[in-house]
Amino acid sequence: MSPSPVSTRTFRAIDTIRQKRDGVELSGIDIESLVNAYTRGEIPDYQVSAWLMAVVLRGMTRAETAALTDAMLHSGEVLDLSSLSAKKVDKHSTGGVGDKTSLVLAPLAAVAGLTVPMISGRGLGHTGGTLDKLEAIPGFNVNLSVGEFRKVLETCGCCMIGQTAEIAPADRKLYALRDVTGTVESPYLICASIMSKKLAEGIDALVLDVKTGSGAFMKNEKDAAFLAELMVETGERMGKQVVALITDMDQPLGNMIGNALEVVEVVQVLRGEGPADLRQLCIELAGWMLHLGGISESVADGKKQSEKLIASGKALDRFRQMVELQRGDPRTIDDPKKLPQAQSTMTIPCPKNGYVASLQCEQIGTACVILGGGRERKEDSVDPTVGIVLHKKVGDAVSVGEPLATIHYNAEARAARAKQLLEESYQIADSPPREKRPLIHRVIGKRGEKN
Ligand code: URA
Repeated sequence: MSPSPVSTRTFRAIDTIRQKRDGVELSGIDIESLVNAYTRGEIPDYQVSAWLMAVVLRGMTRAETAALTDAMLHSGEVLDLSSLSAKKVDKHSTGGVGDKTSLVLAPLAAVAGLTVPMISGRGLGHTGGTLDKLEAIPGFNVNLSVGEFRKVLETCGCCMIGQTAEIAPADRKLYALRDVTGTVESPYLICASIMSKKLAEGIDALVLDVKTGSGAFMKNEKDAAFLAELMVETGERMGKQVVALITDMDQPLGNMIGNALEVVEVVQVLRGEGPADLRQLCIELAGWMLHLGGISESVADGKKQSEKLIASGKALDRFRQMVELQRGDPRTIDDPKKLPQAQSTMTIPCPKNGYVASLQCEQIGTACVILGGGRERKEDSVDPTVGIVLHKKVGDAVSVGEPLATIHYNAEARAARAKQLLEESYQIADSPPREKRPLIHRVIGKRGEKN
């Protein structure tokens, strides 16, 4: 009898790094082997960092992107939530500054009748992360087991957790590594990261918020549209309904940036208050979630329903319930002053009369990271209290000495660096900007452009 066949090929990370560096298309098996070996801790961070950088520089084919998404998705459990009768619909953003819409949308869509099983990420590069914002609520636990996740979903219709050892563990490791190795800005890596987490949630439909502008990873609309199409195609290949809204990130969303500060603004929006741009985007995204989930006949109708659920206080009640079920302190929702606060504040005065012509949004995000609101190394912990409150945004009239922004800080040296970045971020001109950028640029769905 002939011996059973043995694999003649052993996976070597160095070969896969070299091939990607030299522009050779990787096989699905190579990609799967790399992802699995890294998830199991069998290859070191430095080799995977080199591979990620080669991907950033060389790109990926559609087949490679699909293989990477599948490998990351199957690095853990794919949830089966079919026992929950409501439609499972989620939303995910490609990352921005001051983007706290997830915290508004999960309870809002849940109270409308959907199930929202939200698996999110931490801050990435200069952008903030949903998990870091939630953890600013004292006691809030984003590390639930699959069983606990299911229980919270059954009780209140929404639950917000991070990637775990059970769900999308490959993304948890790769995401943390990309954050500190300058390897975030690749549409292929962003697509695989987002879609692997979202497809592991057992959802029926997904609304993607693809950011474009100076604070987004995709600075121009063409690149944002490419990423949107890549993600819509990936979701549809897996039998999900997916729509992508390309939205503006040329200035921060809302006025508050920083983890606890952003929770304050979330509560404002759930009370029917808060800045107009943030409210508008939340309602738009909620309208799409309700429409894809079959709750409303049209997006317009979904928007109307969402507005009513906010006005009635039901969405805020649902947020408080979710916070409590995830062991957060619900008193902070009724009285946001109970959220952790920085020791000191400092205002940035306007240097001259005029109008805010533009804001360098990435720099504002970086200023928040420097204050301690994000990570510069993988093992850094974030300070929930620090951040920035913008008093003036693009198009606003300003006069000399008026406060442009307030920095919330705990360390003088960090505040000084953040102050400099903020001062450079504000461009003041004699006249207002001629064109106002729209908040929603385009909607990309199954058959391409939607409007
Ligand atoms: N959000 C994610 O979940 N992953 C990315 O890579 C970027 C934004």
